Amino acid sequence: MIRVEEALKHILDAVSPLGLEKVNILDALGRVIGEDVHAGRAIPPKDNSAMDGYALRAGDTRGASEETPAILEVVEEIPAGFIPEKRIGPGQAARIMTGAPVPEGADAVVRMEESRKEASRVAILVEAAVGQDIRRAGEDVQPGEKVICRGDVIRPAEIGMLSALGRSFISVHQRPLVAIVATGDELTDIDEPLSPWKIVSSNSYSLAALVLDCGAVPIQIGIAKDRRADLLAKFRAAMRADLIVSSGGVSVGDYDLVKEVMREEGNRMQFWRVAMKPGRPLAFGAMGEVPIVGLPGNPVSSMVSFQQFIRPAILKMMGHTNLFRRTVRARLGEEIDKKPGIRHFIRARIVREEEGYAVVTTGDQGSGILKSMVRANGLIILPEEATKVPAGGMVTVQLLDDSADRTAEPGY
Ligand code: AMP
Ligand code: MG
Repeated sequence: MIRVEEALKHILDAVSPLGLEKVNILDALGRVIGEDVHAGRAIPPKDNSAMDGYALRAGDTRGASEETPAILEVVEEIPAGFIPEKRIGPGQAARIMTGAPVPEGADAVVRMEESRKEASRVAILVEAAVGQDIRRAGEDVQPGEKVICRGDVIRPAEIGMLSALGRSFISVHQRPLVAIVATGDELTDIDEPLSPWKIVSSNSYSLAALVLDCGAVPIQIGIAKDRRADLLAKFRAAMRADLIVSSGGVSVGDYDLVKEVMREEGNRMQFWRVAMKPGRPLAFGAMGEVPIVGLPGNPVSSMVSFQQFIRPAILKMMGHTNLFRRTVRARLGEEIDKKPGIRHFIRARIVREEEGYAVVTTGDQGSGILKSMVRANGLIILPEEATKVPAGGMVTVQLLDDSADRTAEPGY
């Protein structure tokens, strides 16, 4: 039996970041950029007004107040998007809108509320300071400045920045194609007529959804019968992917042929009994150059093993450096009994409270009980040596999504 960490290390060592591809910035969302981005221009490109008001020479407003306003001649009106035509001379001002370029000669903007319009003139009711309410050219970004670094994850803010710089395409790491092969004579597909002895290959769908959730591309290879020839045919068809994931057929039953076929074909098959529950059996090898992970068939085991081993591998292939789901400490709402020896991943519902997190299990922990996975948003992780944990004890919980940290109220 090997430890979870050991299995994880073997699998992570076998994959590396995929090559780069050029994509439109909106297709880059959530992906890892493979280049440094230097600004090719200043943002903003020109000094511009931060307010609707009057562009003027600060010196002309010395001593101005409500009672003794500075009276200036309005020589021009500058809406946003228009280029000023006049230079502001002494005693002059231009009516200016937010975002419009500041005309030459002006060194301050006084906001509309601090002025009074008087026909072709304006009364300025306050003293202005040089630079006031002017956004300077390049105050956000200087030409040549590095704004995004290779390895950064592209989020909406990065997409905004790239578009502001006129960069519609960038290089990102490719999305891995992940082939999914279900195995088992008892399996049928979702819309096939159901006979009493058949079950729907739900793993084909839960695993595909997990792949999508990583930002990768699932490829459904379908259901292989528990026969050598069919397994081999499906595994061969899967070789066009970057990673192959199979479910079922890795235990010790008479028809558990996945290991055998992997051994014959890839010749690098390793089979582990991983010291974890659920998900003890795990096969790992390669078809040609393509890594293949044989997950156990039970619906919960395959999902839990995917979370521990395949998700980090896919994220690594996508160029990510933070590969692991966050764990938090939480107060346990009920007693859990456990024998020492292997690590347990227990389906649970975790919520955030005033003081930290609270967690309860979601019921029957049988590895075929998908319902308790449906209710779960986290996995309580009890270490190998743990035995009984009392109600009120603190446990480590791996968060499976962000639901524990989202709230019905805004919180401000
Ligand atoms: P196996 O590891 O092939 O012995 O499968 C273990 C259990 O998981 C059996 O009860 C199977 O019916 C079930 N199982 C295997 N593959 C799938 C699948 N693709 N979808 C749903 N259940 C499955
Ligand atoms: Mg089977």
